[in-house]
Amino acid sequence: MGKLAKLIENNQNWATQTTKANPDFFKELAAQQTPKYLWIGCSDSRVPANQITGLKPGEVFVHRNIANMVVHTDLNCLSVLQYAVDILKVEEIIVCGHYGCGGVHAAMHDQRNGLVDYWLRHVKDVRDKHLPMLDALKDDHQRRKRLVELNVMQQVFNLSRTNVLQDAWERGQKVGIHSWVYGLHNGLINDLNFRVRNHEHAKRRHAKALSDLDNSNET
Ligand code: ZN
Repeated sequence: MGKLAKLIENNQNWATQTTKANPDFFKELAAQQTPKYLWIGCSDSRVPANQITGLKPGEVFVHRNIANMVVHTDLNCLSVLQYAVDILKVEEIIVCGHYGCGGVHAAMHDQRNGLVDYWLRHVKDVRDKHLPMLDALKDDHQRRKRLVELNVMQQVFNLSRTNVLQDAWERGQKVGIHSWVYGLHNGLINDLNFRVRNHEHAKRRHAKALSDLDNSNET
């Protein structure tokens, strides 16, 4: 059996089992989606949003790109955000990075990979902005981990500065943003404790979260 034929067979088995467990599952989902969460994560094949959070189809709206970035000129990400907030009315937005992120590592070490270097320029900006904190860490492993965390927090901050969220908060819509990092080595999510619920405390909380990170004991 060819590789793709195996995938189609898997799909048929999955659809059969899902229907057996809940005969109305696909009928209900086809009618509408009402996800409460928007997930902005890395394209890395090892970090599947639904699987690691135990969410079923219909429960999370997903945008993924290399190194889980929120770039102010990225019409793709901004469109996903706008649709999720204005139309689907998601209640929580999660930016989830992951330790061992190839994109972040390439940015850290200025590795050349072609077109993707332009995209990773944004991660390098995060690196350059926090050079003193990164330089103070004792080894490269710690620095790469820290840059993954700093990058997630920067993307959460970027989200808080978008017109979409500023307008939503202005009209009283309740939507929060969270910074998480997933561990490839143990399958666990680390909540970085930087959450934003309105535009007033975004800057203050970002500064506090950064200083907490700087003061955290590395092992
Ligand atoms: Zn990654």
